[in-house]
Amino acid sequence: RAAGFPARKMLEDFDWDAQPAVRQQLGSLASGGFLTEARNVVLLGPPGTGKTHLATALGIVAARHGHRVLFATATDWVTRLTDAHRQGRLPQELARLRRYGLVIVDEVGYLPFEQDAANLFFQLVSSRYEHASLVLTSNLPFSGWGGVFGDQAVAAAMIDRIVHHADVLTLKGASYRLRGRGVDSLPS
Ligand code: ADP
Ligand code: MG
Repeated sequence: RAAGFPARKMLEDFDWDAQPAVRQQLGSLASGGFLTEARNVVLLGPPGTGKTHLATALGIVAARHGHRVLFATATDWVTRLTDAHRQGRLPQELARLRRYGLVIVDEVGYLPFEQDAANLFFQLVSSRYEHASLVLTSNLPFSGWGGVFGDQAVAAAMIDRIVHHADVLTLKGASYRLRGRGVDSLPS
């Protein structure tokens, strides 16, 4: 049951007035249908716009529908996959993860990956493609992912697989964390 969520955040707690454009899209995801179809969800947007909140809420939706869920940051996933690879059990680890209906990858883009890490992450995406869902969050648009993965070709192949069957939600506006705190905006 320990899915690794950083905090308990529900769709019901989300203030849609802050993100009116994605309300309808999120509403249709709440039925959990995307999981049975092995579709992905990508949440893009600047810091504090609710990406982790919504990724967690979708994880809770998945668990309620009886799916096994794992949540970790992109950096944590790469660490786990690197460990498995070093121990010669990457295929077994990827097979184990495929038994989870939902794997959540938070914070793609805050830290760049080494080439080896990017290749491992690509293998995670490939192994789940058309088989089980991913929810990913990023502060960067897809055009910035080449820089994160250090390789435009690997990034393009990965995005191609992620987006083929996916809902992409772009969150906008100021950080919810800074509301009413007298901070106009964050550096961009
Ligand atoms: P991000 O991952 O995009 O940086 P978070 O999801 O961590 O942002 O949101 C930052 C904080 O603000 C969290 O405590 C989250 O629950 C809250 N929050 C963000 N957007 C909303 C919203 N629209 N309604 C309610 N709480 C929000
Ligand atoms: Mg976050």
